[in-house]
Amino acid sequence: MSTYVSTRGRDPVGLADAVLNGMPLDGGLYVPTRRPTVGWPPPEGATPEWAAPLLIPGLEPEVIGRAARAACDFPFPLVELDDRRFVLELFHGPTQAFKDVGARFMANVVSRLVSESGATVTILVATSGDTGGAVASAFFGRPGIRVVALFPLDGVSERQRLQMTTLGANVDAVGVRGTFDDCQGLVKTCFADGELRRKHGLTSANSINVARLLPQAIYYLDAARRFDRPVHFVVPSGNLGNLCAGLFAAKSGMPHAGFTAAFNRNHGVADFLRGEPFVPRSSLRTVSNAMDVGDPSNLERVRWLYDDHADAIRADVRGDWVSDTETERTITDVYRRTGYVLDPHTAVAYASASRHDLGATPVVVLATAHPGKFPDVVERAIRAPVKIPPAIREARERNESMSVITPKLEELKRLLNRSSS
Ligand SMILES: *Cc1c(COP(=O)(O)O)cnc(C)c1O
Repeated sequence: MSTYVSTRGRDPVGLADAVLNGMPLDGGLYVPTRRPTVGWPPPEGATPEWAAPLLIPGLEPEVIGRAARAACDFPFPLVELDDRRFVLELFHGPTQAFKDVGARFMANVVSRLVSESGATVTILVATSGDTGGAVASAFFGRPGIRVVALFPLDGVSERQRLQMTTLGANVDAVGVRGTFDDCQGLVKTCFADGELRRKHGLTSANSINVARLLPQAIYYLDAARRFDRPVHFVVPSGNLGNLCAGLFAAKSGMPHAGFTAAFNRNHGVADFLRGEPFVPRSSLRTVSNAMDVGDPSNLERVRWLYDDHADAIRADVRGDWVSDTETERTITDVYRRTGYVLDPHTAVAYASASRHDLGATPVVVLATAHPGKFPDVVERAIRAPVKIPPAIREARERNESMSVITPKLEELKRLLNRSSS
């Protein structure tokens, strides 16, 4: 059954192909063929993931429901910081970032597909920060699946690296002597090589994958139903996967009072949302490094959701951006005023929310990572030690293992040919 299609209208496929191919051949991105609708309000007593089978078509609803339940088995607490301004903590999963939700859902679905087909797959992922850890943790120990995570050797924090290098088993952590763009370039070359792709069953696991993107709608729906009126969501944004999931929720029937997409110095999309044409740029390094994206892939899906009407997008989504200086000052101010510690990504969103007076409308800022993942920036801002989550402390006590390569296809091919340790 063709439940997914390219944003450019071609290449209809079922969920298995959409997940295992990652991208359609016409250069677009997969989206559901029919726009999902969920009933509102949710049924009395519904669990947070009640809408997952409606949002993610293509497998039996029980299978999707089970995968969603397993992906969302940690809480999404809502903390009120100021009058009517809330933080939705999405970082209580195994790698302390919201990416755990999508990565774990995808791992459940891929496991199911692999066990049905008897095939084996290799998840090849390039990461500049949190993606590698979330994907490695989600796929760790799953039969028939190998993870190869490429990261710039000098471009990730110690904590981010440990989340990839201390697992072992079916997870190969690969430090690349180069930049994130070099890692991404290697991955793209591999995916363009049909023979290599078939030989290793290569599959991507970044937010262009529908199985990572769509389940993120769950926590928007779950947050919205906790209020007696529509809320405004403020989303710290990079590749726009998170924002896009919120807009899917909105388009599927969730009441809302608009969205803010908050960016760091990589603000091409903020400029677009303020009325300019979108111009892709190269990415700049900031203190909110998981948002350092100059040419976000998921803008394609946002445009599709609004039939490419820029003014309709701008009516629902306010665009804003925040400098590193203001990001750090926001962490300091909020800590002094309330004792609450923001991570640098959440601080970008919080700073933007503070600029925008919405009267009686509740404002929900999505908190995308635990502050303990970014101790350098956070401790400088609050002038106090930041609490380190136990999982990170434990990772420091385990042995690290990784391969190191230079950004050459031949070296990566050799590594892929080696069987998993
Ligand atoms: C990935 C990430 C983001 C950006 O999310 P997108 O879906 O790429 O827009 C924001 N904050 C943190 C902590 C992240 O890891």
